[in-house]
Amino acid sequence: MRQKILPKKEPDRNEELPYKCHQCFERRYKLKGSLMRHLKFECQKQAQFFCNYQGCKFSSKHKTSLKAHMIHIHNIVYN
Ligand SMILES: [Zn+2]
Ligand SMILES: [Zn+2]
Repeated sequence: MRQKILPKKEPDRNEELPYKCHQCFERRYKLKGSLMRHLKFECQKQAQFFCNYQGCKFSSKHKTSLKAHMIHIHNIVYN
């Protein structure tokens, strides 16, 4: 995915944290080593958040993803 070149006025956060996780799209890192560590130890961990809606098998490693799922799929605000 290509990104637009931002005008100079707006700070480009990509410059500060250029290493974005391509698997979960939720993490950015300043150092390549940090991203590698994330990929190895965090990103490939099992999902920790499960949808408790009856019959639904959705699961996510991130609470925010589960929250979004609950709202969009079941119309439930999950806390
Ligand atoms: Zn990740
Ligand atoms: Zn669900």
